[in-house]
Amino acid sequence: MSFVIPAHATPSIPVAGTGQAFPVRRIWCVGRNYLEHIRELGNDERQPPFFFAKHADMLAPDGVTVPYPSLTKDFQHEVELAVALKSGGLNIAADKALDHVYGYGVSIDLTRRDLQMASRKKEQPWEIGKSFDQSAPCGALRPASEIGHPSKGKIWLSVNGAERQKGDLSEMIWNVAEIISKLSLQVSLGAGDLILTGTPAGVAALSPGDNIECGVDGIGTLKVQIAEPA
Ligand code: MN
Repeated sequence: MSFVIPAHATPSIPVAGTGQAFPVRRIWCVGRNYLEHIRELGNDERQPPFFFAKHADMLAPDGVTVPYPSLTKDFQHEVELAVALKSGGLNIAADKALDHVYGYGVSIDLTRRDLQMASRKKEQPWEIGKSFDQSAPCGALRPASEIGHPSKGKIWLSVNGAERQKGDLSEMIWNVAEIISKLSLQVSLGAGDLILTGTPAGVAALSPGDNIECGVDGIGTLKVQIAEPA
């Protein structure tokens, strides 16, 4: 059967050094996963992490220019390890979870912090703060078949050459296998799902003209520029 409007393109992320791309189905994000970041936002350290989503077409590529988004006066960066799944299922055991990983990348969970905080106070959903156009820049993926499954390594972000965020993958409260296992209790995970695994401390405001550079040692880097509002 043909479509009544043109079918949309499949969002994708290039795989480093291959000329091929990973097709993205859904983007899941972990809410809180580094202790120092939980403390800087004044949240309960003992709460288990929770998940929210961005739409696949909110991906943006390495080198992208993102216009300062609408409705916010506090637009912030959160550098995160991205995990790309090649398979999935429900109720995945943590000791089998890494078998479902295709590879890893560097991403930014761009956030309208003032709107996220207002939603939290009103006990409303987070979409307005988290889920907006180009809110998920992600750099080229590195296959696990090439780099393995990194459990440590520096994760960092700088703005205009000045370091803002710094942490280590080993500081994640819930590791990648545990995140996959936990998330698979609430939804059947599948090939093409991308999981952003939470951010270390140092989140801060962005302005038009800012040049962001971030990375995870052993995985890669990602550059994003912020422009005037569209
Ligand atoms: Mn985040």
